[in-house]
Amino acid sequence: MAVRSLENLLVEELRDLLSAEKQITKALPKMAKAASTEELRAAFEEHLTQTQGQIGRLEQAFEILGHTARAKKCLGMEGLIEEGKEHLEEEMEPAVMDAALIAAAQKVEHYEIASYGSARTWARDVGQPQVAELLQATLDEEAETDRKLTELAERIVNREAA
Ligand code: FE
Ligand code: FE
Repeated sequence: MAVRSLENLLVEELRDLLSAEKQITKALPKMAKAASTEELRAAFEEHLTQTQGQIGRLEQAFEILGHTARAKKCLGMEGLIEEGKEHLEEEMEPAVMDAALIAAAQKVEHYEIASYGSARTWARDVGQPQVAELLQATLDEEAETDRKLTELAERIVNREAA
């Protein structure tokens, strides 16, 4: 689809996000398994559940816009996940591994925050307030997850230093 209007651009971005979220649902169980602290494992598992709900919101958004919920491979997310995987194969102290996992996860959250923020604004701009609301709900979850990860990183590193 050629991008001819802001609404088309929005639909393209939603397709990218649908692909990104699907890739994340495959990566999160592996990240949970690699986590050495129970808290971090639980955080990844909780975000997996949230991510499934976010896919549901994207599907609702497509429906409102009258488009099929079709994903278009998100190369950005593929790259972020690929980079994160490199660490999983390395030998690391448990706390260091957790620090690496958190950093990888925060890169993913920041990508999502940027994409959902733009898509939310475009939905508002094209007069689709319901879609904007759905995207805002997910954006809030991603921002909260990012905040939680920062807090976990600080706690894990402090515990190790103690
Ligand atoms: Fe997400
Ligand atoms: Fe997320």
